[in-house]
Amino acid sequence: MTPFQFQRAADSAGAVQAAAALTGARYLGGGTNLVDLMREGIEQPATLIDVSGLPAGIEETPEGGLIIDAAVRNTALAEHRGVRERYPVLARAILSGASGQIRNMATVGGNLLQRTRCTYFYDEAARCNKRMPGTGCDAREGFNRIHAILGASEGCVATHPSDMCVALAALGALVHLEGAGGRRTLPIVDLHRLPGDRPDVDTELRPGELITAVELPGLGSAARSTYRKVRDRASYAFALVSVAAVLDLAPDGTVRDVRLALGGVAHKPWRALRAEAALRGRPANAETFRVAAEAELADARPLRDNAFKIELARRVIVTTLGDLTGDRI
Ligand SMILES: Cc1cc2nc3c(=O)[nH]c(=O)nc-3n(C[C@H](O)[C@H](O)[C@H](O)COP(=O)(O)OP(=O)(O)OC[C@H]3O[C@@H](n4cnc5c(N)ncnc54)[C@H](O)[C@@H]3O)c2cc1C
Ligand code: SF4
Repeated sequence: MTPFQFQRAADSAGAVQAAAALTGARYLGGGTNLVDLMREGIEQPATLIDVSGLPAGIEETPEGGLIIDAAVRNTALAEHRGVRERYPVLARAILSGASGQIRNMATVGGNLLQRTRCTYFYDEAARCNKRMPGTGCDAREGFNRIHAILGASEGCVATHPSDMCVALAALGALVHLEGAGGRRTLPIVDLHRLPGDRPDVDTELRPGELITAVELPGLGSAARSTYRKVRDRASYAFALVSVAAVLDLAPDGTVRDVRLALGGVAHKPWRALRAEAALRGRPANAETFRVAAEAELADARPLRDNAFKIELARRVIVTTLGDLTGDRI
């Protein structure tokens, strides 16, 4: 591992100041992703600014939502009573990821910014535009079973690995940021990027910006939500396809409102806006769900080894919505 300096931040302003002053500085959450990448020589920060000791609270907002500090550990978030009762989609997504030990260490901020699990990204002998811009993409013609079917580019076909982010996308969460230029808020769906011709840039964060919190909007009392993840093993595996769904049904059984997001299919958590449009106002039944899934996946483009993801995504969308409608379908 390349030698590096280490600092512990006392507060968010101090962390931002240190990041602005030090070339090659990076924030450190639980270290469960960044330290692995440093051990492999993929990332070589000159300084780590430890932000894992910053405030780690979960508070109610006046609008009936929750504001979650970025240093909250994944386990604490999944176990929080308000999350389990009002946002089961989020609790389920977190608990479907990694292992108990990793979730105990991993922070909310770090989970949002974890890097892709593309095997070529981790292999220094491989060509990878994300790791070494301009070198090419060995995944395109290589073994690409786990790669993207939506929104990919010539330059990169990687997927975003986070389960939590998929739930946050369906919940319409906001990400609170602090940087040298002040504070701002971004919808989570605008935090991550599609690869385009800059696969080396994962997010819309400005240099040195710190994630300080994530805000969940209040949900109507009729809203129900869930998360379904399909993977190669029952635990300790990333999603091949996952679906987060938030559904609000009218008394007559039609879809009053719905928010859907997909994981394991794109370079960012994929908000399924076409499917949502096809669902709103329609009867909540299997046929409607199938039509909505088809609409979302119409532009899916498989690679050599991952065409199965299109059919899998279709089925997981239908099944997940079925989970939420119970006896209605
Ligand atoms: C074996 C294994 C299996 C896993 N399986 C899953 C899985 O199934 N699903 C899943 O979702 N995840 C999975 N993970 C990933 C795990 O969830 C992430 O490693 C973890 O969430 C990262 O959080 P962290 O706090 O440790 O981040 P760190 O490793 O500390 O940091 C990650 C990145 O975030 C940046 N960062 C950290 N905090 C902030 C902040 N506040 N503001 C700005 N930047 C910040 C760091 O600079 C770094 O770039 C797995 C990990 C392992 C090792
Ligand atoms: S898919 Fe992206 S991360 Fe993977 S090798 Fe290609 S450029 Fe690198």
